[in-house]
Amino acid sequence: MQVITSIRELKLIISNIRRKGKTIGFVPTMGALHKGHISLLDKCLKDKNFSIASIYVNPSQFNDKNDLRNYPRDLEKDCKLLEQANCDLIFTPTDEEMYPEKDVRVFDFGTMGSVMEGKHRPGHFNGVAQIVTKLFDAVEPDKAYFGKKDFQQLAIIRKFSRDTNYSIDIIGCPIIREADGLAMSSRNQLLNKDQRKAAPLIYNTLRQAKSLIHSQSIPEIENYVEKTINNNPFLKLEYFQYVESDSLHQIRQFTPEVPVNACIAVFAGKLRLIDNIEIIL
Ligand code: AMP
Repeated sequence: MQVITSIRELKLIISNIRRKGKTIGFVPTMGALHKGHISLLDKCLKDKNFSIASIYVNPSQFNDKNDLRNYPRDLEKDCKLLEQANCDLIFTPTDEEMYPEKDVRVFDFGTMGSVMEGKHRPGHFNGVAQIVTKLFDAVEPDKAYFGKKDFQQLAIIRKFSRDTNYSIDIIGCPIIREADGLAMSSRNQLLNKDQRKAAPLIYNTLRQAKSLIHSQSIPEIENYVEKTINNNPFLKLEYFQYVESDSLHQIRQFTPEVPVNACIAVFAGKLRLIDNIEIIL
């Protein structure tokens, strides 16, 4: 497994791989890897690609300086995990490599970018689009693998891939969870004992919100979710919404055959946890 930090070197290696007729599969990450990340790599390898994982904590997508400062980093452990998982190449660039100068590009995703995470983390998706386009330009993959854990991010990446004519297959991969249902996340290691104990309530509540759609109205379920989460002393609801899975438009009633996701963001102290669940009627 090679570990590369420069785009120039990366491009040389990739052109050699292409000459051998191999396709390139790409798994972008911010490191502090867990089984959720590895599941993306497994899928990438299963699809018989030359697999490239990137590890880069992208400053431009953090709207909170403390969150960026505290974001967990362990490159040595990440490299070991990726090697064990048979990754072919790790791209781990420096800030200077990715941002030789300030990126002033502005992306507008319309409603898709201004609801939920877009509303509560201003500038977040602009930063995501800046780094993902830079990484796509550096790697030029045939396929790129993203987790459904970041459901809105996946929808937005699909959208700008269409808008920019990238001929990259965007593959959405299932959410990997802890045994108690908590969606795996690099930030989970920052939860204290009480918060970690409380956190599975998020997914349990989402499951309830899925089963209640047959017996209760959306406002009633919203009320239920708010009460259930906020009754726990270690959690505080930021938002809960049912949205159309493709457009991310908030829905006020269910229509048969229109796929919907219920999306949630919850604070555990200063940490923000997000999750979602698919609902197909
Ligand atoms: P991150 O390192 O948090 O930026 O995540 C890198 C990629 O891994 C993104 O496509 C995430 O959606 C995906 N990912 C993170 N957590 C999970 C999970 N629990 N299950 C599946 N994919 C995940």
